[in-house]
Formats: sequence, C-alpha cells, structure tokens
Amino acid sequence: MKLAALGEVMVELAPQAVSQGSGQKALLAQSYAGDTYNTAVYIARGGVEVSYVTLLGEDPYSEEVLTRLADEGIDTSAIARLPGRCPGLYMIQNTADGERYFTYWRGEAPARELFADPARRDALKAHLNQMDCLYLSGITLAIMNPEARAELLAFLNEYRANGGRVAFDSNYRPRLWASAEAARTVVAEFLQQADMALLTFEDEQALWGDERPGSCLKRNSDFGVAELVIKRGAEPVLLQVDGVLTAIDVPPVSSVVDTTGAGDSFNAGYLAARLQGASPQQSIAAGNRCAARVIGHRGAIIPRVEYFADAAGGAVAEAAC
Ligand code: ADP
Repeated sequence: MKLAALGEVMVELAPQAVSQGSGQKALLAQSYAGDTYNTAVYIARGGVEVSYVTLLGEDPYSEEVLTRLADEGIDTSAIARLPGRCPGLYMIQNTADGERYFTYWRGEAPARELFADPARRDALKAHLNQMDCLYLSGITLAIMNPEARAELLAFLNEYRANGGRVAFDSNYRPRLWASAEAARTVVAEFLQQADMALLTFEDEQALWGDERPGSCLKRNSDFGVAELVIKRGAEPVLLQVDGVLTAIDVPPVSSVVDTTGAGDSFNAGYLAARLQGASPQQSIAAGNRCAARVIGHRGAIIPRVEYFADAAGGAVAEAAC
C-alpha cells in the first residue's frame, strides 16, 4: 500500500527557557512541522510506503527537510524545488497562562504553488495515480491558489473513479482563509471527494457552528463521506461507517505533556492501520495509540527512539517500523 500526503512543511522556532545564573534566558529550538508532514512521518513509521508532495526552495532548510523525510524512509521524488524561495516559518509563544500562540511567516512559501504549474502537473498526476490513497487537509487547500485547487479537485474525481481513495482532515485555521464562508465552500467540495474524513470536532464547530456532533455527522453523510471519524480530545472518538455510528473510548494517557500533533498522529495511526487491512474500529484504536505516544512527549514530531520505545521496558523496537 502506498499513500501520498500533500501539503506544507514549515520551519518551527519554539522558545526554550534556560536558567542563566539567577535569571532565565529564552533560547529558540529549531525544528520542522506541518499538519500533513506530521501525519506523513507517523504513517511511514507505521509501516506504509509514503510519498510527501510539496514544493521547497534550494536553501539549507529545504535541504534539511528532504534529509529528514529521507531518514523516515519517505519518498521525496515528487517534491519540486523553487530557486530563491524558502519554506514558511512559524514561532511558538508560550504565555503565562500556559497557552501557546503561533505567529506565521508563510506568504511566500513555495508550497503555495502546489498543483499550480501546468508544466509539472501531468508528471505529478502520474505520480499520484500510483498511490492507493491520497491524504490532504484544509490547510493544504487554504494555501493553494484557487485555480490550482480546482485542478486538484477535478483530479481527485478522476483518481477516485480509477479506484484511488482520498482521506481528508478539515484542520480549519481561520487565519488562512478570507472568510469562514470561503472555507466552508472549498471544504465542502473536497469532502464530496473524500472516502475517509478524519475531523476534529472543535474545528468543525469553529467552521460550521455545530453545537453537537449530530449535525456534523449528518452534514458529512450528506456530503457522501462513507467513513467518518470525529476526534474529540480525551472524549470517545465517533466513527460513522456507511451510516452506522459507534463511539469508541480513548484510553487514558497518564502524562499528557504536549498535545501538539495529537490529531495529526491520530490520523496517521488510523490510516496506517486501515491501509494495512485493519477494520475502522481497529484503526481507531491504532489512532489512539499513535496519538498517545506523541502527546506523551514534547513537539509534533517525536524522536524515532522515543516513538519506538517499548512501553513496558523502554527497549527500542526498531524492528516494528
Ligand atoms: P486535534 O489535535 O486535532 O485538536 P484532538 O484534541 O481531538 O485533535 O485529539 C486527537 C486524538 O489525540 C484523540 O482522538 C485522542 O486519540 C488523542 N488525545 C488528545 N487529547 C488526549 C487526552 N487528553 N488524553 C488521551 N488522548 C488524547
């Protein structure tokens, strides 16, 4: 089974408090993250062949992204490079009340050109047509230009007609859209091309104004989503397959360190299991397990050693990858 994830990976700068004599000094830790990138990494760790599809620059940070993808065994052959452009960047700010704020510099990010260049598009479509599943998110759609998005939508229709499956997470980020109405229009079009929707209820509430999950379940059935998963933090995950609803408990996680990447890693666990033949119910359990590992550590992408560490003895189980 092969999956391609489409989207944007950014440079991340996160403050680290460091004691210096009697005071504290803030240093910045530099890393890489992005919703579909995070999911791609954990799907690959789950044993599925993954291709990451984006555009990068020719700068050292873009090089490093390629190296990290390759280190995860992810195919980078469909990543185009745009000379003179650099990946987007964001900074995390930790406030006194424990909240995290994100500031972005991504207006010129090369990933915004996804699907935009007609000269590259046919080769990219040929690459995507080799995949069993495509994964994209509302963030992927928000950063694309409208013409490129329309091309992608038309391609998904053909791709599904040829037996490919599409998985989608709405990941609604209001700042990326001109208005909620604009986001709803685009997200609705793509949900109508989604075989699997892996949605977070909080995002659905922000985008559609749902008070209860019922309206979310109904809307997505009306869009024709056959396999719908609704994540609700520590609350039971809702699964609706061909109209049949099940609520599946989330096992408690003893120490939740950082929920960054919870939804992305859940999606990865779910899709990796699903593509390897597990049932939707089994795949929810795999999604919960993957998210539990990630929220037990700081950062969206946790080191491989920690990811594969055996819960019982701390032994490294690289063989499982
Ligand atoms: P998002 O990161 O998109 O906001 P959620 O907060 O809904 O997503 O969490 C996604 C998944 O992460 C949940 O379905 C669950 O598996 C896991 N998770 C999140 N928060 C907790 C928690 N407090 N305890 C246990 N699991 C959690």
